[in-house]
Amino acid sequence: MDETTSPGTAPSGSHLTLTPECICRGTPPTPEQNEGPYYKPYTPHKADFRQDVTDGTPLVLSGQVVNGAGEPVGGALLDFWQVGDEGVYDDAGFRLRGHQFADPKGYWRLETVLPAMYPGRTRHLHVKVQPPGGEVLTTMLYFPEERRNHLDKHFRPECLMTVQQADGGWKAQFTFVV
Ligand code: FE
Repeated sequence: MDETTSPGTAPSGSHLTLTPECICRGTPPTPEQNEGPYYKPYTPHKADFRQDVTDGTPLVLSGQVVNGAGEPVGGALLDFWQVGDEGVYDDAGFRLRGHQFADPKGYWRLETVLPAMYPGRTRHLHVKVQPPGGEVLTTMLYFPEERRNHLDKHFRPECLMTVQQADGGWKAQFTFVV
């Protein structure tokens, strides 16, 4: 039976509390997180940050932007910024900063390097995601199994990526729900 056309109702006399139907059908939105002090607007259109650095462990991030019903959000803007191996943000230029647009099915991909941990923070990347004509979501992405995740007051487990290490590099996936 299609639950979208058949809202669940508790059997009469039942003492069970059913999970509200809207939660069964949807996915919680990706949480908003601090922008922090290092964002710079007007980034270049760039989905390959490797050209920006000479050192660093290769990292390929990829994923999808979807809405709360799981439908792709094609053409969403994604604006990433991060540190590289040396653990500092480029304030003078746009190294390791750039925006791209998700494809018509909401898929996106960023070729980059592993961000180093810097004082006070666990390993993370920053990103802004904006559906066409929609509101900007500012958030951060994290790596599982980092010892410092739970020491970082900003850390959000909902923003953990799925990560694999292979062939001398790392691959990570994340689905943004906006
Ligand atoms: Fe940061």
